[in-house]
Amino acid sequence: MPNLSHGRHYLAIPGPTVVPDRVQRAMHRTSPNVYEGELVDVSDSIIVDLKRLAGTEHHLAVYVANGHGGWEAVVSNVFSRGDRALAISNGIFGEGWARLASGMGVDVDPLSFGKRSAIDTGRVLERLERDTSHLYKAVLCSHVDTSSSVRNDIASLAKAIRGIGHPALLVVDCIASLGCDPFEMDAWGVDVMLSASQKGLMCPPGLAFVCFGERAREACLKSDLRTPYWDWNPRTGIDGEFFLRFCGTAPTHHLYGLRESLDMIAEEGLGSVWSRHDAIARAVWSAVEAWGSNGCLELNVADPESRARGVTTIRMPSKRGGELRRWLASSAGVTLGIGLGMDDESDPDADGAFRIAHMGHVSSHMALGVLACVESGLGALGVSHGAGALERAARICSSSSG
Ligand SMILES: *Cc1c(COP(=O)(O)O)cnc(C)c1O
Repeated sequence: MPNLSHGRHYLAIPGPTVVPDRVQRAMHRTSPNVYEGELVDVSDSIIVDLKRLAGTEHHLAVYVANGHGGWEAVVSNVFSRGDRALAISNGIFGEGWARLASGMGVDVDPLSFGKRSAIDTGRVLERLERDTSHLYKAVLCSHVDTSSSVRNDIASLAKAIRGIGHPALLVVDCIASLGCDPFEMDAWGVDVMLSASQKGLMCPPGLAFVCFGERAREACLKSDLRTPYWDWNPRTGIDGEFFLRFCGTAPTHHLYGLRESLDMIAEEGLGSVWSRHDAIARAVWSAVEAWGSNGCLELNVADPESRARGVTTIRMPSKRGGELRRWLASSAGVTLGIGLGMDDESDPDADGAFRIAHMGHVSSHMALGVLACVESGLGALGVSHGAGALERAARICSSSSG
């Protein structure tokens, strides 16, 4: 028998995502001077465009770091040792951030909404209303938790917190949502947001950035967890010394790559980028719903409003998720995301879940290809499933593309 995995392999995991050929070509070049010239201009223009993407006119600091570095940057600037934080989670990314903050000396109060539903704003307000002496310095939460694919309504949360007059800063992890799900930092009233290069921004891992508003800048001027490398203040100045912006050597090639991916987003139009993600996400959901009509698969998040547009977590009660992933990688040329953090005692390998990423540089043909391969895999494994999945997904793509 032939093996049908030969051809361009597709890594359909939620980060790192597919790096477009254009971005790869932009990075394939000799090193620029890091003291003056073109790189400084490229870096200036990136700062302007990242702020536009985040929907903010305030401050932005870039770090040579992955997402965890972004987390540490935020915690270091926002808190002093012993400050209290309300750390909301809908999956293991929220939990991981809370653990990191706690490890840095923050007094973390966890508030979990499980792994299948979005934030219940009422329960957040309950906690904040009980905090009459305003000990919570900040509320930490994720826009999208990439493990569960839960998306939170950040605009409502921000409005509700302001509504009760609690001064806590709202700090949001947008690593898996920026460039996939609509996000408007200033219009929604978010104080601090962070993101990274390797998901919706279509670049390799290695750049994290933090946007912070005036309220956060002032509230955090005396935060004592700040160390010289993580301090966001010297990094914000376009007018200052260039080497301060990255606290050392600039991440040269990453900046060229990011410049190209930001150009791609601008050419497509941010609104169109969001609606492409929305259409492709709906195609994936409709296929899973059709397969799962007999219970073999199930979307992890029941409420469509609470689903991420860049990644879908799928439950497989027969716990054959690992087998399915391995079959797709070895026999179809597609790598799916693992059921990260979805395990319990009866399923230590998280085989009861897998994820399809549709984040960043993803077209109809890529998404429909993955879905067709999942259907092949279900067939190869002898998993009986509902019919019509690919037709439904194809119809959503044809009715959504101009
Ligand atoms: C990927 C991700 C992270 C962690 O990023 P790393 O680059 O792996 O450190 C944190 N939060 C969210 C929501 C993510 O999707």
